[in-house]
Amino acid sequence: MNQKSEEHENLDVLLSTQTVIQKALTKLGYPEAVFELLKEPLRMLTVRIPIRMDDGSVKVFTGFRAQHNDSVGPTKGGVRFHPQVTETEVKALSIWMSLKAGIVDLPYGGGKGGIICDPRNMSFRELERLSRGYVRAISQIVGPTKDIPAPDVFTNSQIMAWMMDEYSRIREFDSPGFITGKPLVLGGSRGRETATAKGVTIVIREAAKKRGIELTGARVVVQGFGNAGSFLAKFMHDAGAKVIGISDAYGALHDPEGLDVDYLLDRRDSFGTVTKLFKDTISNDELLELDCDILVPAAVENQITENNAHQIKADIVVEAANGPTTLEATRILYERGVLLVPDVLASSGGVTVSYFEWVQNNQGYYWSDEEVEQKLENIMVRAFENVYQAAQARRIDMRLAAYMVGVRKMAEASRFRGWV
Ligand code: GLU
Repeated sequence: MNQKSEEHENLDVLLSTQTVIQKALTKLGYPEAVFELLKEPLRMLTVRIPIRMDDGSVKVFTGFRAQHNDSVGPTKGGVRFHPQVTETEVKALSIWMSLKAGIVDLPYGGGKGGIICDPRNMSFRELERLSRGYVRAISQIVGPTKDIPAPDVFTNSQIMAWMMDEYSRIREFDSPGFITGKPLVLGGSRGRETATAKGVTIVIREAAKKRGIELTGARVVVQGFGNAGSFLAKFMHDAGAKVIGISDAYGALHDPEGLDVDYLLDRRDSFGTVTKLFKDTISNDELLELDCDILVPAAVENQITENNAHQIKADIVVEAANGPTTLEATRILYERGVLLVPDVLASSGGVTVSYFEWVQNNQGYYWSDEEVEQKLENIMVRAFENVYQAAQARRIDMRLAAYMVGVRKMAEASRFRGWV
């Protein structure tokens, strides 16, 4: 897809988000000024980062950092490295982070960053220089009490380590709380790497209970084999479910008897690519329409649209990716009786354990695996139940209910501060 149609799709994503926020605020009885405040990030920084490549040439990269709303606390959210990153996408992603923080009740607003680049074609040292260059470029607007970055698509704990080191050098003191998703030895939290997938697993379990579906033997399809998708496939497999389909950016695998998830995990590369090793593949479009009980889009935006929503056969769709289902598709699935658990709820386990990491950094005291897991479990179950009950009580889909739950604290905090 070219950059222009990409930008067009992202504009749709931003406009859809704004539409749902407006609906949620109206239902909650807030005046129009609150929507005017929340429809765009408060701050958006665009930076140009010159990097010396390994061959001696200089390449100038473009990066962004969006801070949606800091009425509740510092802004928080990942940084993605991807060739299709756009300013509009980063804006929408920062709004979603605000909603996630609201839904799981963290003392944060939403932020997001991105760099237009393809890390799959860059060397280790080039990636290091780019990560450090990005932090130098945005250093004035970020920090442990201002805006706290984290991993996202194609960024990982090594990149977080370089970024933390660069920030600490600039500030001249060790600043582990500047960024989350760090390696354990640099102040990372136990359970952070698997947190998004753990959170999705908890949400799937709760949703399955509501629909009377037994997880043991349930047929699950996972789109995307990155951080969220790959661990999720593993957790589903461990829970006794049958993972009958998975995919990456290049294709998809299907076996109605269940795939060998451990083998696939073993063979995936660090970008989640695994299907290239197989001859017998299906397309991502075919994957989404497979006969299954639970479908988990865990890749990128705009995957379930009005063009394929009628063909989705799953009973439950759980969005582990950000923005995989369009508004029109949300409506179609709701009318067809499919239970759709929206991204801002389902994928909030990552930022929840990021919050745990930041708290541990601030205290200089570190928790056990069990503590992290138990706290995440409590938060996710409560968040799911809040949103589910709100949807039932008002007879609305779970996306609108999640937005209502997610936007409330931010709207209240902005009013108490006298902003609106
Ligand atoms: N990038 C993740 C997300 O979209 C995690 C953000 C964080 O941990 O701050 O939720």
